[in-house]
Amino acid sequence: MKVWVDPGRCRGHALCLTHAPEAFEFIDLEDRSIVIDGAVGQVALDVFQTAAKNCPERAIIIEE
Ligand code: SF4
Repeated sequence: MKVWVDPGRCRGHALCLTHAPEAFEFIDLEDRSIVIDGAVGQVALDVFQTAAKNCPERAIIIEE
C-alpha cells in the first residue's frame, strides 16, 4: 500500500491531523501535510481511508 499527500492539492486544513494524528504531520513553514515516515504499514488502512474521506481537497491518495 502507498499513501501520500498531493502537495498541489493540500491547503493546510489539518483535518487529516484531527482524524489521524498518528499518520500525518505538518511540514514546518509550508502549511501542508505529509504522511509520517513509517506510518504506512503501521497505521491501519481504515485510518488512512477516514482521513482521505474527510480531506476537503481530496489530497490524500491511497494506492492499495
Ligand atoms: S485535510 Fe487534506 S488539505 Fe487539509 S492538511 Fe490534510 S491533506 Fe492537506
